Amino acid sequence: MNNFSFYNPVRLHFGKGQIEQLKQELPKFGRNILVVYGGGSIKKSGLYDEVMAILEELKMNVFEIGGVEPNPRVETARKGIEICKKESIDLILAVGGGSVIDCTKLIAAGAKIDEDAWNIVIKKVQVTDALPFGTILTLAATGSEMNSASVISNEQTKEKYGWGSPYVFPTFSILDPTYTFTVPKNHTVYGMVDIMSHVFEQYFHDATNTPVTDEMCEGVLRTVINTAPKLLEDLENYELRETILLAGTVGLNGFLSIGSRGDWATHNIEHSVSAVYDIPHGGGLAIIFPNWMKHNVSVNPERFAQLAVRVFHVNPDGKSAEQVALEGIDRLREFWNSIGAPSRLADYEIDGSQLEVLVEKSMVNGPFGRFKKLQAEDVRTILEMSL
Ligand code: NAP
Ligand code: FE
Repeated sequence: MNNFSFYNPVRLHFGKGQIEQLKQELPKFGRNILVVYGGGSIKKSGLYDEVMAILEELKMNVFEIGGVEPNPRVETARKGIEICKKESIDLILAVGGGSVIDCTKLIAAGAKIDEDAWNIVIKKVQVTDALPFGTILTLAATGSEMNSASVISNEQTKEKYGWGSPYVFPTFSILDPTYTFTVPKNHTVYGMVDIMSHVFEQYFHDATNTPVTDEMCEGVLRTVINTAPKLLEDLENYELRETILLAGTVGLNGFLSIGSRGDWATHNIEHSVSAVYDIPHGGGLAIIFPNWMKHNVSVNPERFAQLAVRVFHVNPDGKSAEQVALEGIDRLREFWNSIGAPSRLADYEIDGSQLEVLVEKSMVNGPFGRFKKLQAEDVRTILEMSL
């Protein structure tokens, strides 16, 4: 393992009815609250009314910004920052999926600086403070409810980058599985692909001797694989939603990468694709990840074979590590196909015409990936395999 220091200050309130915790959590921070939400799913589900009733009971001064886009835009964060500054906002409440939470993180940090928020995303400005914020999660996927990362798009420049800071850990997150009942089938699938992809990114890391986190990763993956088909047949099943909700949080709260640093190259490539084509993050990952794997089997065939045997139940008898590895990757592809995830960029009507743009965008900070450092030609090959 690598040496490590682990820190995660997020208080989780998990389970049915935990929204009541708002009454203890919110008054600690002041009265001027900004509520951030997306395109309207919380109004349809009734969660918006539930939140507003509690804020009224607490006699908070409520400001709000809705319409946060999937693949949230810096433009929307700028509007939120303006409200924070003008109205002396004390705290923020994000109600939604990863996009709403990521946008809230940029609002929270941007409210404390005089520069444009995009400079935070491109790491020109270092974050040294942020407004406190809590989250009510409505979609299991990103882990943003328990991590300090945020991914923001710039529509004008067609860029999408991740950034992070210890100042933007949520102070608390409310995870009530019933709020995820209304997530449609396609976004439920994208969410589960994202969860599995986060685990893969951390499983393929830069360290040796990581048996504890290996088993943790494999356990999360087996759990998602076992749960996914049942959940897709029964979207309002509390226990299945609860399982996936916790898998999403554990999948990217830092716990699976104690003692190692994950690869994250596939996420970087996917961000380029969704920056240009605005496709769902999980859809892009389902297309690219198996191709990243195939391209990199030779880096450490034994590690891919371990995954194939322990998670995809490949029988290794009489086969080389490479053969076992490839069989495992095929089974991953088959599994994602079986739950309705896309497998080719063509599924989104994306052809090769912008391939060089995607390569260039992926390479903007130079070669990347910690399991295997990718050069431009590697990215090109992986994208060609994904067409
Ligand atoms: P999302 O973009 O937040 O939401 C996707 C869609 O699901 C939206 O249309 C949203 O509608 C809808 N939705 C959410 N909850 C719902 C519910 N309970 N019922 C019905 N519809 C619901 O999806 P996400 O996968 O959570 O977030 C994706 C973003 O996170 C991407 O930009 C990705 O790059 C980023 N990401 C961040 C991290 C991180 O660590 N911070 C990690 C991986 C990915 P409404 O807008 O109407 O609510
Ligand atoms: Fe992700």
